[in-house]
Amino acid sequence: MSGEPQADCLFCRIVAGEIPATVVRETESTLAFRDINPQAPTHVLVIPRAHYPNAAALADADPALAGTVLAEAGRVAEDEKVAESAGGAGYRLIFNTGRGVGQTVFHAHVHVLGGADGLRERLV
Ligand code: AMP
Ligand code: ZN
Repeated sequence: MSGEPQADCLFCRIVAGEIPATVVRETESTLAFRDINPQAPTHVLVIPRAHYPNAAALADADPALAGTVLAEAGRVAEDEKVAESAGGAGYRLIFNTGRGVGQTVFHAHVHVLGGADGLRERLV
């Protein structure tokens, strides 16, 4: 069912407190925590507490919640001082969608990446 917790989902288990995470921000509907395998000095994942398999499915089912996830990603970037408005160089938001491009956790999440030299040259 749409948005229902999935027993076999790693991020649902983090939301439930069954698996520990380094939480940096939380709201009633979202959680932001540090990636366990950081690819940049700031590497935080922002997720909805509700389970959707990817970002597009989330936006389809609950556009307001998708907007909250994005707004929280911006607040993480401010808190981490990677946003330009906080004196940083800026940050990158990534939503991997599909196994073939590296999605490994099928609970919608946005990667907030910043603070790394060379981030501008990578990917797009
Ligand atoms: P993706 O490859 O886009 O599905 O991203 C999943 C991310 O979750 C990867 O960057 C992993 O390093 C990260 N990850 C996996 N397990 C954990 C965990 N227990 N706590 C925090 N991040 C995790
Ligand atoms: Zn989930």
